This record gives sequence, structure tokens and C-alpha cells, in this order.
Amino acid sequence: MRQNLVAGNWKMNNNAEQTADLIGDLKSSMEGFEPNCRVMIAPTFVNLAAAAPNTEGTIVEVAAQNMHQAEKGAYTGEISVDMLKSVGIQTVILGHSERRTYFKEDDALLKAKVTTALANGMEVIFCFGELLAERKAGNHFTVVESQLKNVLFDLFSDQWKQIVLAYEPVWAIGTGETASPEQAQEMHSFIRGLVNTKYSETVANELTILYGGSVKPDNAKEIFSKEDVDGGLIGGASLKVADFTAIIQAC
Ligand code: PEP
Repeated sequence: MRQNLVAGNWKMNNNAEQTADLIGDLKSSMEGFEPNCRVMIAPTFVNLAAAAPNTEGTIVEVAAQNMHQAEKGAYTGEISVDMLKSVGIQTVILGHSERRTYFKEDDALLKAKVTTALANGMEVIFCFGELLAERKAGNHFTVVESQLKNVLFDLFSDQWKQIVLAYEPVWAIGTGETASPEQAQEMHSFIRGLVNTKYSETVANELTILYGGSVKPDNAKEIFSKEDVDGGLIGGASLKVADFTAIIQAC
């Protein structure tokens, strides 16, 4: 049975004190209700070591926003998988469009990162999605298919248990423009179909596929109600506890 998930990507926001405050507020606002989904937050690297123990014993899980593909070595300023694991992190977001755009992360690099993460027992939230021009040209299915094939389709069936997909059309991220629930469902169903064809119905059915891109309290319920949408990766709205909690409740 696949699990729903709502994950908040906090990006480069919040210092140590603000992170602790936001986690405190989130824990208080979650008291007394049992969500129908896993709940996750992804603070920036320097705040992970404090966030992990701060959420222990709660339903809030903590993920990293990125990691380096090498196990260790002379990579000044980078963070390894072992460093993440050593502070209690078991999930990493890879392939976010901001990493692809601003840091030129391509399929080959992402494949190396996914390989390292999985080999070290991490769960990966793998992000992908088309640009506005690609959608306008009607190429969105082809683009998404190649992003998935190039990075993930050499995995063994068993490794898909460690994968969560996050379809994030780039034109909808931080823009206030959301894919319609129908557009999200159409793409998610296409993605599940690809995994079914390449692997099996079991792998496809057990796969959690998140939607990301301007999910807010007022559109979350409709998007999450679609059959193949198993929750969301939330940027801006995850920084406001009331909004994030409302989105979790919508799942
Ligand atoms: C994101 O950055 O993954 C994202 C979905 O952002 P937002 O919700 O702000 O569009």
C-alpha cells in the first residue's frame, strides 16, 4: 500500500532560532490530530543536526535538500551522505529544479547522487518536471519520460521502495500558478504507467508520487483528491505553520 506524504522544502530560509521556532509551532499545531500522510520538513543543512532530535518522537520527519554524490573527499563546502546519516537524516531531496537551474545539475550528476544515496540506505525524493516552454510546445510528457529514464530506470525493482517521485512543473514553482488537478492527474497517471511498463504493476502501485508547485491551503484538497496524486512537495506555504498544517489536513 503506498503512503501519502506532505513534505515542506524550506529552501534557504530560517536561521537556527527561526528553524527551532517553526518546528515548535508545527509540533503544537499538529497536536491532537493524526494526519492521513507522512509529514516531513527539509530545513537547510546547518539546521539538520538540531532539527532531527527536535522532532524525535513526533510524526514529523526531517529530510535534507541535497547531498554530494561522492562518499567523501576533497570537495570543499559539500555535504556527504554519511554526514547526513550521522545526524539522523534518512531522506534526501534530489533533482529540485532550483538545483538543476542554478547549479546546473544534470541527469548524469543526479544519477550519481541517487546511486550514492540508495547504496547508503537513504530514501530519495526525486524531483523533475518540464519548463513552461516545453509544456507550451506539447513536449511535457517526453521531457518527464527522459528525466525519469535517464536517472532512475536502471534501478532494480527493489530499490524503488526507497524512491518517492515529486512531479514539479517548473512553471508552477514559486509562481503562484498551479497545474490544474486534471493536469497533475494526467501527468501522474502517465508516470505511474511508465513505471508499470518498465517494472511491474506492484512497483507502480506502491510508488508515492507527489505534486509540487504553488500548493496552498485553498487548492490542496482538490489536487490531493486525484487518484494518482499521493501528496505534495510544498515550498512557500510550508514556511507558514497554519498553511502547512492546512495542507497536511487536506491530504
Ligand atoms: C518547491 O520549491 O518544491 C515548490 C513546490 O515551491 P512552491 O510550493 O513555493 O511553488
